[in-house]
Amino acid sequence: MSPATVLDHEADHANHRATKPEEHKALKDTPDSNYGNKEEKRVITGSEQKTARANGEISGKQVTRRNHGGNHVVTKGTTSNKIDRKKTYQYYQRRNKTSHGDFSKQLKKYKN
Ligand SMILES: [Zn+2]
Repeated sequence: MSPATVLDHEADHANHRATKPEEHKALKDTPDSNYGNKEEKRVITGSEQKTARANGEISGKQVTRRNHGGNHVVTKGTTSNKIDRKKTYQYYQRRNKTSHGDFSKQLKKYKN
């Protein structure tokens, strides 16, 4: 997904929290086996698909994802979903120097 589509995903959460706080909390507090919780399911199966389709990132019966998973990548631009492998590798090199975890798997994946 492009950064633009990811931003829209986060904006949907923020808007829902601001306009329907009780419903938002209830969905967030309800576990979902695929999406972690019902709020993630609402956004991922709702606005995320609509936005990704409008932004030309998916077509036909394609979907962005069927869970709440995924890895951070650097894309070719804010509205692109094409991975910039070199910049993604550099991103994980920087992250690997911090105490935020072990990114050796990602470094191996994006090397060259
Ligand atoms: Zn989310």
